[in-house]
Amino acid sequence: MYTVSDLDKDLAVLEGQGAKVFTVGYSELGRPIKGVFNGNTDGPQLFVQGAIHAREWATAQLCVLLTEAYRGKCGLWCVPMSNPDGAMLAQFGLDSVADSNKRDFLYRINGKSDDFTLWKANARAVDLNVNFNALWGTGKSNITYPAPGNYIGPYPFSESESRALGEFTDKIRPRFTVSYHARGRVIYYGFNGSNPDPTVPPLVSSVTGYPAYTSEDSAGGYKDWFVLTTGRAGVTIEVGKETTPYQYLQQELPSMLEQNKGVFEALCRAAGE
Ligand SMILES: [Zn+2]
Repeated sequence: MYTVSDLDKDLAVLEGQGAKVFTVGYSELGRPIKGVFNGNTDGPQLFVQGAIHAREWATAQLCVLLTEAYRGKCGLWCVPMSNPDGAMLAQFGLDSVADSNKRDFLYRINGKSDDFTLWKANARAVDLNVNFNALWGTGKSNITYPAPGNYIGPYPFSESESRALGEFTDKIRPRFTVSYHARGRVIYYGFNGSNPDPTVPPLVSSVTGYPAYTSEDSAGGYKDWFVLTTGRAGVTIEVGKETTPYQYLQQELPSMLEQNKGVFEALCRAAGE
């Protein structure tokens, strides 16, 4: 596993080595949403975000390792575990939730099952990656009631986690963003027919070896919102074999690292550094 406390330990080590550790906000259950910075604060900035979907917690470890290895000139701001409550739920189930009313609610939403390994949402059963203000509620698989995944929430940015990512993005104004998800070894780019910086998807494709597709039928995602509101390029990178069960994705970390090393450096060069 790669837990919130594993992340805390890794961030403390990186901080000891001189990296800057920061907090973008707090989850709905009050856990800090932490990040790590590597590179230069002047010039183009990059923003990387992982594990917004609970069951994809292995991408948090990937983000940490890629940020640690990063040697580009651009500033690299990385929030490895965007949904700490969800990751804790996927890893430890209801034991990770202190409040008994919240436990009852989550148990019911999870179909009266204690197995949360496939949970995608946060601790309010909102899927954070359909909660951003980008044609919110129009995605093909969107649903309008609390669920383990795909619930859009009561209104855009209703969740503290999506608000924290949005506000931090507004603050650092990144040139490009990367969102790590699982699975399938594919890249998604653009939003609603718009494809800013059309050289970016083939560039990321050439580094990773993953095919790149335009996003179809999606709405309300972090990348969707970034592309729509800034007119800049954001990519979603889906790591891991399509057939690997989510709880075993961590075993593919070596190949994920091999395939994704150099992505941030290539984006930094594309940003003109
Ligand atoms: Zn995902």
